[in-house]
Amino acid sequence: MAPETPSRRFSGKRLIVASHNPGKVREIGALIEPYGITPVSAGELGLAEPEETGLTFIANAELKAHAAAEASGEPTLADDSGLAVDALGGDPGIYSARWAGPAKDFALAMRKVNDGLKAAGADAPASRGAHFVCALSLAWPDGHVESFEGKVFGTLVWPPRGDQGFGYDPIFQANGQDITFGEMASEAKHAMSHRADAFAQLMVAVFTK
Ligand code: IMP
Repeated sequence: MAPETPSRRFSGKRLIVASHNPGKVREIGALIEPYGITPVSAGELGLAEPEETGLTFIANAELKAHAAAEASGEPTLADDSGLAVDALGGDPGIYSARWAGPAKDFALAMRKVNDGLKAAGADAPASRGAHFVCALSLAWPDGHVESFEGKVFGTLVWPPRGDQGFGYDPIFQANGQDITFGEMASEAKHAMSHRADAFAQLMVAVFTK
């Protein structure tokens, strides 16, 4: 068997975060600051956001990371995430944000998911399986990229419960839990989330403490 190519390691002091969402930049910043790395958002640098035309989470994360690395001339981290529902063939998947429409109405998006489950006859918890996915890509200006995909598995409940978190959190109950992500303190969610899983993989492979 051919030996696996080792990941390229990141040894810089600042990292561009290809997001215009201040919440996301803060969350990513908290994870990379212990490594002595300062996050700089693509928004602060005035970089344009490319259209998410990829057909997978990793394709979209790579597309955003490559675009900002090229424009800034510096290594850039980007992510793409969403909810994949088993009985809906993986939908809304990469379209998770788009299901909420231009008004970003997640009550509507959660209802669409539940209507889909009802139409598929998925009433019992066992048929309401879903997972969140988070793809993280670190791209260098020379075109090299390292990508990781984290997941957390669970069941979808109805009606939605809790007002913590965001997006589809109020209907997602991770396996082994009896509360939804919407009812969970953010530290508890961050310890088990798809984002935590992807970050753990990235840290081990790319960052040196
Ligand atoms: P992105 O910002 O393009 O990655 O879109 C991600 C979308 O997926 C968000 O708008 C949410 O709808 C959904 N999503 C991703 N991660 C989470 C999560 O941790 N909780 C709830 N919804 C999430």
